[in-house]
Amino acid sequence: MKTTNYDIIIIGGGMVGASLACALADSTLKIAVIEGREPPAEWPADSFDIRVSAITRASENLFRHLGAWEEMQRLRVQPYQAMEVWDATGPGHIHFEAAELGEPNLGHIIENRVITRALRQRLREHHNIDYRCPAHPKGLLPLIDRAQLQLDDGSRLQAPLMVGADGAHSWLRQQAGIAVAERHYGQTAVVTTVQTEKHHQDTAWQRFLPSGPLAFLPLPGGRSSIVWSTTAEQAEHLLALDAGEFMAELGEAFAHRLGAITALGPRGAFPLKGRHAKQYVKPQLALVGDAAHTIHPLAGQGVNLGLADVEALAAVVLDAHRARRPIGALKTLRRYERARRGDNLLMLDAMGAFKSLFSNDTPGLRELRNLGLDLADHAGPVKNLIVARAMGLDALPAASLATS
Ligand SMILES: Cc1cc2nc3c(=O)[nH]c(=O)nc-3n(C[C@H](O)[C@H](O)[C@H](O)COP(=O)(O)OP(=O)(O)OC[C@H]3O[C@@H](n4cnc5c(N)ncnc54)[C@H](O)[C@@H]3O)c2cc1C
Repeated sequence: MKTTNYDIIIIGGGMVGASLACALADSTLKIAVIEGREPPAEWPADSFDIRVSAITRASENLFRHLGAWEEMQRLRVQPYQAMEVWDATGPGHIHFEAAELGEPNLGHIIENRVITRALRQRLREHHNIDYRCPAHPKGLLPLIDRAQLQLDDGSRLQAPLMVGADGAHSWLRQQAGIAVAERHYGQTAVVTTVQTEKHHQDTAWQRFLPSGPLAFLPLPGGRSSIVWSTTAEQAEHLLALDAGEFMAELGEAFAHRLGAITALGPRGAFPLKGRHAKQYVKPQLALVGDAAHTIHPLAGQGVNLGLADVEALAAVVLDAHRARRPIGALKTLRRYERARRGDNLLMLDAMGAFKSLFSNDTPGLRELRNLGLDLADHAGPVKNLIVARAMGLDALPAASLATS
């Protein structure tokens, strides 16, 4: 069978891989995307994906730049104007409001299938992207200055740069022998969609319980997406309850802030683990998104970090391509690693510390964190700094790509 040549092969066409392909496509680069699963083409208007993402303003800007934002808006997005965070063990709370910052919103809650569908539509519109789905990699062969990929249908592809955007259990990362540092959060996230008696007020709510944070993320039509991070034992217990029992426990855990709760869909569970690849790059290879790092969802940063990887890697590759330097050379790719590793590690450390601080019921610590939340709530500049970081407004939204 003949071998097809590309400039870049991206394994994984999820939120991060599809974004990367689109970010590279306004060029003469020939790109292949290898993806195993197609997202649903349509769904009933009253059904919601149990997987949603809080998308920062920086990520929104990237989606706009890639030409996918309009389609996401057409499908369904929910802006949120405020964030309310409080501690179940004391009076400490913090409230963020978009209006206080002169911003139209703090970000959007979007179903993952909406994001993926809009991005994959854009993939198909680029003549220089060969989107192969369903397709699975089977073997990897490093050659001089390029790598060869064999797919399970027997076809062979080769390129000077292979990118792993294939998620937390990345096949490419394992093939490349790149080790991962792991952190056990000792928590599982139980997720589902509900309707609340009182409207969510376009607010993202998060209550810190000793067993972990419970988030109510606003969705269109007064619905909310639940992310309840708790011990593995309690998660197992919650999944085994019938709908009525589950709603009663959920209401209690949320201190009935939005009144009675009605179940709208199935429940799912995701064991949470922090992971950080020891290397993001090797000659002819780069990792992006969850393939390089996974993080506790309590601050809704996971895919946003992956999209920041996309911007950095696309900028480095497009720069090298314009200057006719080899795009897969280690020297080129290290610029990407240097740009992103520190930021990702900082966020991983911060989420680890946050999780430990709030899952600890030691009396002195409990009072200290309640005081800390209240102090931060009253300290304007500190509060603005926290929220600017959470919105990604301290990043350079799509600026590095805008000129390419
Ligand atoms: C409960 C929970 C809540 C979260 N909430 C948020 C949030 O609010 N905000 C946020 O920013 N992040 C959030 N995250 C994190 C976010 O979901 C991930 O960071 C994001 O999905 C990573 O995207 P990705 O494209 O890198 O990987 P993935 O989403 O895992 O996509 C990988 C893609 O590669 C494909 N693939 C994998 N292996 C192969 C293979 N061998 N062959 C072919 N294709 C392959 C898969 O089919 C998939 O399409 C949350 C995570 C969890 C668990």
